[in-house]
Amino acid sequence: MKPNAIVIGSGFSGLSAATHLASQGVKVTVVERNDQPGGRARIWKQDGFTFDMGPSWYWMPDVFDRYFEAFGKSTSDYYELKRLDPSYRVFTADDVLDIPASYDELKALFEAREPGAARQLDKFLDEARTKYDIGMRDLVEKPGHSLFEFTDLRTISSAFKLQIFKSFRKHVYAHFKDEVIRSIMEFPVLFLGATPQKTPALYSLMNYADIQLGTWYPMGGMHRVVHAMHDLAREQGVEFQFNTEVKSIATRKRLTWGIQTHSGSLESDMIIGAADYHHLETLLDNPELKNYTESYWDKRTMAPSSLLFYLGVNRKIDGLEHHNLFFDAPFDPHADAIYQSPRWPDHPLFYVCAPSKTDDSVAPEGMENLFVLIPLAPGLADSQEMRQEYFNRVMARLEERIGTPIRPHITVYRDFAMNDFVNDYHAYKGNAYGLANTLRQTAFLKPALRNKKLDNLWYAGQLTTPGPGVPPALISGKVAAQEALKTLRYGNYN
Ligand SMILES: Cc1cc2nc3c(=O)[nH]c(=O)nc-3n(C[C@H](O)[C@H](O)[C@H](O)COP(=O)(O)OP(=O)(O)OC[C@H]3O[C@@H](n4cnc5c(N)ncnc54)[C@H](O)[C@@H]3O)c2cc1C
Repeated sequence: MKPNAIVIGSGFSGLSAATHLASQGVKVTVVERNDQPGGRARIWKQDGFTFDMGPSWYWMPDVFDRYFEAFGKSTSDYYELKRLDPSYRVFTADDVLDIPASYDELKALFEAREPGAARQLDKFLDEARTKYDIGMRDLVEKPGHSLFEFTDLRTISSAFKLQIFKSFRKHVYAHFKDEVIRSIMEFPVLFLGATPQKTPALYSLMNYADIQLGTWYPMGGMHRVVHAMHDLAREQGVEFQFNTEVKSIATRKRLTWGIQTHSGSLESDMIIGAADYHHLETLLDNPELKNYTESYWDKRTMAPSSLLFYLGVNRKIDGLEHHNLFFDAPFDPHADAIYQSPRWPDHPLFYVCAPSKTDDSVAPEGMENLFVLIPLAPGLADSQEMRQEYFNRVMARLEERIGTPIRPHITVYRDFAMNDFVNDYHAYKGNAYGLANTLRQTAFLKPALRNKKLDNLWYAGQLTTPGPGVPPALISGKVAAQEALKTLRYGNYN
């Protein structure tokens, strides 16, 4: 008889884990509490608008390519990708900069702001490319069980090139003096959930991803990727149970034997928990079997939560590109409000996505689909009053910068913040992006991929290796599935 597995959660990591297991002959059931796949990347449709509720940046296309290739498919079998040009627009305090997709044009832009910056960019990106190649080849697909995985000769000899112990900020500041260039170079680190000061310079690999690999958009929206992975999973035989909340993970001695849901129990030979790690541990029927204590979690540096607005606007809005970063206030005080002294920031930086600039299918004709994101400290007290106050603050800034009123033209409105992350995804402290990629939370220092007291329970997703973001979630699911397959002793679980 085929061995069977349960995957808890149908976000990117759960879809990846399930598909990898199924492709190796395991009978897989994915159990998801929400009514659709995608997790934080699910969609919301209203009055002809289709909103991606979470990710909007399609970076590292090579990771998606490899994902589909592993099953004999290609991304183009499922969706059409478009490279965005400009990659994104940056609103600084007194300027508006479009970051061109062309590397030569970007160098010219840097050089015009700071003589010598073009050559510095070449140097910076040469190193970044080396880190990206080493990272993809030797690091991200390691399960992170222990330091010894990283002590083979090739990895050690690569280590000094990776600049693990240097801060990202120092690395950027050593290359560039212009404040705007510095903030453009530091921007990709925001995806990793920590400040540039706390992020290892290793992650300049993200600049390589940004500048050289490019910003892409799957026509139809980011959820096209979710649908593609969901289709592929079903082609591999994976079954899905939506609207099914896992209430507990049932254990006996060193094994789990299944789950309890609100509608009954489901047995399995192994489980991959691809929901938020902290929540999964609270589901264990015996708390002694948790990998980590509450105080462990409390000491982690979580990636930010977010206040999000999904806006349907009944007219076209000039002055915006597909991706727009409002870096018109200094980042450090906002970062302080996220990481050091959690509070609502005085002058928040924010991001506006207008996918209807690229894609007619996400808004009715002549209208605009807007998504606004303000990063906030996880665990912050959340209230409708604060959401409204910040809505008005950022919309006033946005309207002033582009010289167009938007608020009178909003016909569809939804806000989403910490409380919703908790209610909809069981997110620890309402985090949006999981666990920050700080030095002390990298590789084997992250929450472990396997349960140390149970032989057939693994974890996947943005709170374990390799970290937050869609490409890492795909990799995390794959690595968890590989580890599960390695230790699977068929028929030995009674
Ligand atoms: C607003 C926002 C913007 C982002 N932008 C980007 C971006 O532009 N690019 C990028 O690469 N990344 C981005 N990210 C990060 C990226 O979306 C995540 O890292 C990734 O989607 C996480 O996938 P996951 O599988 O780990 O978790 P999730 O997507 O959270 O999936 C976990 C699933 O488990 C389910 N679940 C939880 N508890 C239970 C239970 N008890 N029973 C059953 N099911 C349960 C949840 O409903 C959920 O569907 C963004 C995230 C957010 C929130």
